[in-house]
Amino acid sequence: MNIERHVSVERLRLKFAAAHMATLGDELEPLHGHNYLVKCRVDGALTSDRWVIDFSALKTYVREVCDFLDHHFLLQERSPLLAITREGDTWSVTFRGRSYRFPEADVRALPLENTTAELLAEYIAEQVAGRLKANGHTNITRLAIEVEEMPGQAGGYARDLD
Ligand SMILES: [Zn+2]
Repeated sequence: MNIERHVSVERLRLKFAAAHMATLGDELEPLHGHNYLVKCRVDGALTSDRWVIDFSALKTYVREVCDFLDHHFLLQERSPLLAITREGDTWSVTFRGRSYRFPEADVRALPLENTTAELLAEYIAEQVAGRLKANGHTNITRLAIEVEEMPGQAGGYARDLD
């Protein structure tokens, strides 16, 4: 018998508002923003208390990452298409003659090639995975994150945990 158990948390306060401009093909979107909603699912065995994980603990981990991203410009620092430099307190982003300058305090430079919902989901998943590990949730075997950019439009990422 193959039993699977999971816990999922979403929506209520698991959200962030952020600006970005993703590349598509060799084009760059105009600067714009989304009210992102985040869903998180973890799979794993029951603990001795018969939980997979305490809902509030899981929500805290996801919310911490959402709060970090909230009200910032999300910059894909590993973009192969954007020319990105940081001088002092200023990030400069250039693409085919379009130049943007952002004060550092407004920017979250993420180690991503693009700021698609799929890659933002991966980024959030890795941050949550680190928190699960740091807090000793060794019964959790799989983690999935979904990031909804707008109603009915979401990207996801899931992976097994060590
Ligand atoms: Zn967008």
